[in-house]
Amino acid sequence: MTHATGYAALSAESPMAPFTFERRALRADDVRLDIRYCGVCHFDLHQARDDWHNSVCPCVPGHEIIGTVTEVGPDVTRFQIGDLAAIGCMVDSCMACPECVRGPEQYCVKRSTPTYNGKDRMDGSPTYGGYSDHIVAREQFVLKLPEGLDPERAAPLLCAGITTWSPLRHWKVGPGSRVAVAGLGGLGHMGVKLAVGLGAEVTVVTTSPAKSADALALGAH
Ligand SMILES: [Zn+2]
Ligand SMILES: [Zn+2]
Repeated sequence: MTHATGYAALSAESPMAPFTFERRALRADDVRLDIRYCGVCHFDLHQARDDWHNSVCPCVPGHEIIGTVTEVGPDVTRFQIGDLAAIGCMVDSCMACPECVRGPEQYCVKRSTPTYNGKDRMDGSPTYGGYSDHIVAREQFVLKLPEGLDPERAAPLLCAGITTWSPLRHWKVGPGSRVAVAGLGGLGHMGVKLAVGLGAEVTVVTTSPAKSADALALGAH
């Protein structure tokens, strides 16, 4: 085990506060990251405030994580110490059900393990997220950061990014597509950039006229 420090909601009413906890010792297929950046997702606020009545406190939020690999288990094949890596919304799944075998572990019939506010599948300990100094996760749920991607700005891709990328790919958006993005917030601005990058004609629908300059600057038509 290693001592970790982070920020936690100790209760749904208390402000975020410094919090010390244990991370598990590395298993054979685990990777340890020193966390360098972590996005702030609105989901984090909901969990910290127990808006959905399922928060486990202390709650260390954060599921848009960018870090540097500091240790790898003996069965890890894709990472070496010093690599830049990323962790998103989940850190484990059953790895055996039809959905896990097919690929989308978020549909695991035994439920994937969320990066925080969940329970480790092996030892039952609480999972704690990226508002902390380091994290340990199964290699399968750790992503390589591509060359040329600025680590300081990449974290929101891990949740806001994949959330908007997934439907754009599902509907095969590309040149000739017309995309409307409702709202220019954390996800909306990502959706605009991704859809523009895929070659679509992009319209932003907003009730905030002050955001139109930002929408145009992000590439909306
Ligand atoms: Zn999120
Ligand atoms: Zn599964």
